[in-house]
Amino acid sequence: MSESVTLPPSSEYAVEHLKREIAFMEDVAWGLAGCGDEYALLQAPMFMTQIEFAQKTLQHVEEGIPFTQLWYPGVPEFCTAMDLHWDGFTRVTLSGPLAYLVPEYLLKMLEESDMTGLPGDVCTLRRFETAAMLAGKFPRPTSAVACLHPCDGVSVFQSACEQMFPDTPMFWADSPYDSNERGITYYAGELRRQVEFLEKHHNKKLDWDRLREVIAVTDTQYELWKEFDLLKRNTPCPMGSWSGYPIHHMLQNCAVTNAAPVTTEYLKSLIAYAEKQVAEGKGRLENEKHRCLFMDIAPTWVGSITKILEEECNAVVVVDGMGDSRPYTPIDLTSEQTILEGLAKRYCMDTPMIRVSHGTLDAMLDDLRANVVDYNLDVVIAPGHIGHKDVQAAQGILRDTCREMGVKLLEFNYDLFDPRYTPEEEMRKILTQFFDAI
Ligand code: SF4
Repeated sequence: MSESVTLPPSSEYAVEHLKREIAFMEDVAWGLAGCGDEYALLQAPMFMTQIEFAQKTLQHVEEGIPFTQLWYPGVPEFCTAMDLHWDGFTRVTLSGPLAYLVPEYLLKMLEESDMTGLPGDVCTLRRFETAAMLAGKFPRPTSAVACLHPCDGVSVFQSACEQMFPDTPMFWADSPYDSNERGITYYAGELRRQVEFLEKHHNKKLDWDRLREVIAVTDTQYELWKEFDLLKRNTPCPMGSWSGYPIHHMLQNCAVTNAAPVTTEYLKSLIAYAEKQVAEGKGRLENEKHRCLFMDIAPTWVGSITKILEEECNAVVVVDGMGDSRPYTPIDLTSEQTILEGLAKRYCMDTPMIRVSHGTLDAMLDDLRANVVDYNLDVVIAPGHIGHKDVQAAQGILRDTCREMGVKLLEFNYDLFDPRYTPEEEMRKILTQFFDAI
């Protein structure tokens, strides 16, 4: 650590925690490297870059280098183009991949979040965040940038952030109600103010030509993602459940992978694997009987639900709420305004959860219809996560839409982040009874 830097009080524990987390991830990485499973090893780049992400944040905190905190859905392209490191709320809140991979780690996080005293109907992710913040796991950023969406829990958390870091300048982008032209123009204005905010508080100037270069790379990566998704239309599906989820993560949620060559290589390796599977007529499941749309992001207990679905029900989640490239379109690089509008669409209208949680239900229903047809699906799983009141409220319309399309719909209540809410045995009963019945 540089001698001239004195860490602010809340960063001391964050440093300690970051070091423990990095050591833990390195241990898990050893296990992954030695597993010898070709399919699991496809995810190694995603995992290794999480370690790099945490290390880079640690370096910034220890050496007193300014960085910003980007709460999803931020615009990482701005930071990449400005050469400005950002720490991500999902990295801190979910400890990168640890919450998904290590059940004991998740349980500890849940016990900590129980202690916050926040009401049980606030999304557990927001309770994780608050617990992490109260414990001092968030390194104090130089600035923070976020969007006042996708859900009511964000506003609760906004106040907690402002109280915890009263001297940190924060920018909260306001999202429009509609996804139409007017909404895009409005959010583009918010993004222009976001750029000005970052320039002011980090004493850096955004070079728009550099931003064009960065976007040209991310546009290519979104195109590769679409190429990969086309391969998943094959029956049997060449990939296992939730295979698009890490792609979203690398494109939008990680500072060291946004517009980075590692992400392009990762996408190419997925395509190569899927192509080989298709050429050999192989699916990830030996006996694929059902192809599903899971209308939500992957639960932190994704490992156990995948096992039940794939091994006991012969069902594969071909598309999920986060791993779907469909909404994204290339960005018009002609002028500053067209760039801002393209980014507004990408990070407000297209990105998961915020896409379906504002405005009318059209995006949710259009996605459902298109996914069912394009991927030849026979099952829609539309679980009602405790915080996704929009999906819960839409259950009747979803039921009618599935009936019209002749596909089966499974609805149940659960908590995306807390497996205690619907214990594994209960989940097994719900899933196996449903698939036995169809
Ligand atoms: S997972 Fe859904 S409900 Fe929870 S914080 Fe994110 S958008 Fe809100």
